[in-house]
Amino acid sequence: LKGKQPQRVAFYNRELETELLNQVYLQEALKSALAKNEMRLVYQPIVEAQSGRIVSLETLLRWQCGDDAIPPSLFIPVAEKSGSIVPLGYWIIEEACKTLAELPPAAKEIALSVNVSIVQLQDAAFIDKVEQLLTHYAIAPERLHLEVTESLFHESQTEIYAKVSYLQDKGVRISIDDFGTGYSSLSVIQNMRIDFVKIDRSFVNNIDDKGLAVVQAVLTMSGTFGYEVIAEGVETARQAQTLLNFGVPLLQGYYFSQPLEKAAMLARVVEATCA
Ligand code: C2E
Ligand code: CA
Ligand code: CA
Ligand code: CA
Repeated sequence: LKGKQPQRVAFYNRELETELLNQVYLQEALKSALAKNEMRLVYQPIVEAQSGRIVSLETLLRWQCGDDAIPPSLFIPVAEKSGSIVPLGYWIIEEACKTLAELPPAAKEIALSVNVSIVQLQDAAFIDKVEQLLTHYAIAPERLHLEVTESLFHESQTEIYAKVSYLQDKGVRISIDDFGTGYSSLSVIQNMRIDFVKIDRSFVNNIDDKGLAVVQAVLTMSGTFGYEVIAEGVETARQAQTLLNFGVPLLQGYYFSQPLEKAAMLARVVEATCA
């Protein structure tokens, strides 16, 4: 009587179980990742379209867990859910501040752009910590850019807006990441003082078709709302040329550079600024 049914259930549960085990495994491994020195930042240039000059660098997190390089798309959601993104996020901002302090004097205009999750902004200590880190490493707040996604502003809006606005008053710049992929894009740029809008790479990818209309719309509105436009995921010379022709001022993507290890990034910045 019990023969077949439980086996079926066991089969269905196995995938779920594997997934759960993976999550639990990642969650546990994340807790000790910093102490084990498994985390590092890589840096991807954001360049001026006209000149190719590096104006800022986006910091991207890398996790080398034993032999496995675990992609952020896999562990960031787990870190957000478990809350470990909060201490991890402070570590990321501290690393960014240290790196900014290490850039040569001739590169003092270059900013670092750090990805920030909603969970981090909800932490009561967020503003204090950011200010402390900027002060401790003597970093001009204008050199720290925070990349947030539109989805950030769906929840607890007033509190988040207030925190972001406070940091902006201190000089920190705010970028809207993956612009156009969330459903509240337009209300976000209307309701906040956004410094940079990063056009999602899906539109850049589709630049020869309907993507161009989105790029043009974002550019047209930039005058009214006072943000600067960054196109991300630029992979080909053709895309870069099209974006330049249409007047997108800032570009980022594999065509210009892969994310770079810190030493390689510093070498490139030194070469570009101290030549
Ligand atoms: P994102 O913020 O949209 O970051 C851009 C992603 O696109 C990066 O992937 C980058 O390596 C990749 N990319 C850059 N140029 C190109 C290109 O030309 N073509 C293509 N196809 N891809 C390109 P990565 O590093 O795997 O990060 C994935 C996502 O994980 C990020 O998307 C971001 O949402 C999240 N993430 C990464 N680092 C952090 C972090 O430090 N904190 C938080 N909260 N999230 C992070
Ligand atoms: Ca980003
Ligand atoms: Ca993005
Ligand atoms: Ca993204």
